[in-house]
Amino acid sequence: MKRSFFGFIKPRLTYEAIADTQAEPAYVQVSEKIRLLLDQPAEHAAEIVLSVGDHVKSGQRIQTADDAGEYELSSKSGNITDIVPYLGMMQKRMTAVTIAVDPESAQTPDETFKQESPAPTLESAARFLQGLPGKPDFSPFFDPGKLIKAIVVLGVERDLMAVTNQYFIKTGIESIKTGIDVLRKITGIHNVVLAVPEHLVQVAGASGAGVKTVDSEYPASHPQLIVRHILADEMKSGDLSAPADVAFFSAEAVSAMGAAFNTGQLPLNKLLTFISKDGNKRLACAPIGTPLKDILEAFNETVQDADRIIFGGPMTGTAVYSIDEPVQPDTDMIMIQDRSQIPESADIACINCGECVRVCPVNVPVNILVRLLEAEKYEAAASEAELDACIECGLCTYVCESRIPIFQHIKLAKHTLERMKAEESNA
Ligand code: SF4
Ligand code: SF4
Repeated sequence: MKRSFFGFIKPRLTYEAIADTQAEPAYVQVSEKIRLLLDQPAEHAAEIVLSVGDHVKSGQRIQTADDAGEYELSSKSGNITDIVPYLGMMQKRMTAVTIAVDPESAQTPDETFKQESPAPTLESAARFLQGLPGKPDFSPFFDPGKLIKAIVVLGVERDLMAVTNQYFIKTGIESIKTGIDVLRKITGIHNVVLAVPEHLVQVAGASGAGVKTVDSEYPASHPQLIVRHILADEMKSGDLSAPADVAFFSAEAVSAMGAAFNTGQLPLNKLLTFISKDGNKRLACAPIGTPLKDILEAFNETVQDADRIIFGGPMTGTAVYSIDEPVQPDTDMIMIQDRSQIPESADIACINCGECVRVCPVNVPVNILVRLLEAEKYEAAASEAELDACIECGLCTYVCESRIPIFQHIKLAKHTLERMKAEESNA
């Protein structure tokens, strides 16, 4: 990716189109253990449902407390060897559950979903499917403050260079159709739109959903921009009044839901795009919870000191610090950067060039915002510089002449404000 030679022309970053000759995904074997990350701190659970030494089956729900809404699905059978506190993004307190894979019992899946869900319902979907690959989120349908009127299935990518969701459109439109039928049935919502890049419009037609084309220029596939641009007619006609009327699911999640209700078995392998240091792009299919080291081994890739591992894409991904980091249900992409390729951030002051303002797709006054963020005036950033309007696309950081890590400042500010709000409501 290169910037435009002419500074005043916006950089044109385009999403990757899946190749006609795209190779089949490489299946990654788990060497020893999987690790599941639960979105709750371990000490939060008064009574832990599972303990070290317990045997779990593939497809079994793993959660810390009986009444906890959040859970993950074990992608393998085996014994729990560890339940420890885990610090996630922005020091988020989570719980890591490690399972030593038992090859003998790997083929004996948990039957609870099959037994308890003879017919698809929204409740059974929320109870069993939120841990599927693609991490389908049913919470908007249970939120009394929201009235969902349309569903958008994203056959596009969240970040540059990935082809994960396009692969499902290209090779599995039948299972997406089944998933869309299931979604319609359990939600009662018939307005389902499949958003795809131009080159997949024809194949997407077989999905039974309304097909809309998403522009190839980044960040057009961001859910909020999709609502604004491709559902504009429905908003004008009054069918939709706000982005909050729309629920989003990835093509992978919808395909997995279709397969789950069709077969009674929960799909537990995550598809992801792997970019190695030499820029080579390949698809990998790895059980949820697979540590990164197993993927590196499958692709014969090595990581040295000061190389960078990014979960997510080049614009919005997060650097991680261990090759034990597991694949999560929403890990669409992993990229490895050689230390020689990493552009450095700087501590240079903003020169007010205005590049960030020109590039921002939602017109945030980024040059003002950045000053408030650097001074840690987060509340002022929200009230005076439209922090909340930011869709976190990362373009401002990409173009910044002073190489200020604006995107990271924004994430930190939003996280801090959220935490302050939670503390206030607890108090
Ligand atoms: S990260 Fe936010 S502020 Fe920066 S360009 Fe994207 S939307 Fe605008
Ligand atoms: S934050 Fe960076 S891109 Fe924006 S005005 Fe300042 S120097 Fe220019």
